[in-house]
Amino acid sequence: MQERQTKQKTIIYDALKTLDHPTATEVYGYVHEAYPSVSRATVFRVLGGFAEKGTALELRLSGHEVRYDYNVMPHYHAHCTVCGRVADVAAAGIPTDGLRATADCGFEIEGYSVEFFGICKACQKR
Ligand SMILES: [Zn+2]
Ligand SMILES: [Zn+2]
Repeated sequence: MQERQTKQKTIIYDALKTLDHPTATEVYGYVHEAYPSVSRATVFRVLGGFAEKGTALELRLSGHEVRYDYNVMPHYHAHCTVCGRVADVAAAGIPTDGLRATADCGFEIEGYSVEFFGICKACQKR
């Protein structure tokens, strides 16, 4: 049982790396093709576990289904308002240092997220 769970986790993590910021449904579709025995519930549970343990990021971009990212290094995301594609934006060069210090709302700030949106290259060509 333990061994099977480990194998499923590996399969799902590999799918995360292969797919580009996939939704849980996309991960399931990909995994299910090669391993029909892996259930949808398992995929959702394993992805939730990855997010909890910090193995993957759970991206909640406005107007989109939750997406997962195996890249847990600090970086930001741009999402296409036409097709929903998500791309990485390098954290370097974005002046975020002051955000925490200047938040003047009485909160003890634990973090922040920066979200970019626009039209991706493929959609620009249409
Ligand atoms: Zn697009
Ligand atoms: Zn990313």
